[in-house]
This record gives sequence, C-alpha cells and structure tokens, in this order.
Amino acid sequence: MGIAAERIDRLDELAREAARDGDAERARSYVRRARRVAERNRLTLPVRFRRFTCDDCDGYLVPGRNARVRTRDGHVVVACDCGAHARYPYR
Ligand SMILES: [Zn+2]
Repeated sequence: MGIAAERIDRLDELAREAARDGDAERARSYVRRARRVAERNRLTLPVRFRRFTCDDCDGYLVPGRNARVRTRDGHVVVACDCGAHARYPYR
C-alpha cells in the first residue's frame, strides 16, 4: 500500500472516531481531506469509506446516530441526516 492509500486509511479511521465521539465537523474535515488525497493521487476510495460517507455533505455516517440504514428491493438505502440518500446493491 502506498503512502497516499495509507493516509486515506488513517483519515478514514480518524473520521470514524470523530463521528462516534459526536464531533460531526471534525469528522467532515477528515472526510474532505481523504477525498482530496484520493483525487490528487487518482486513487479509488475504499468501499467502507464510500459507504459511510455522504456525497452531499461529506459527513461520516454512523447508523443510528446521523444516518438511517434500510434494505429495500435488494438494495441497502443509507439516508444521511442532511436528507441525501445513497443506494447500494445488497450482497
Ligand atoms: Zn449528508
């Protein structure tokens, strides 16, 4: 794993910890930094990161805290508190 990928991993961890501590703004800043690192290095963000971040508000999603997760028609629907929804195929 390259340095950029390691940094993304670390930012993902920090964002998750901040979100669990209830510090949404700090979590959001880590999410944005991770997205920038990925963009600059043309890396794909890890699946976990993509699933648990909001494309609209860059929030790090913690189900039961700032996001709701439902399954529907073979999809997982993740709804962020900002109102954005994301759908993923159910595995
Ligand atoms: Zn959102």
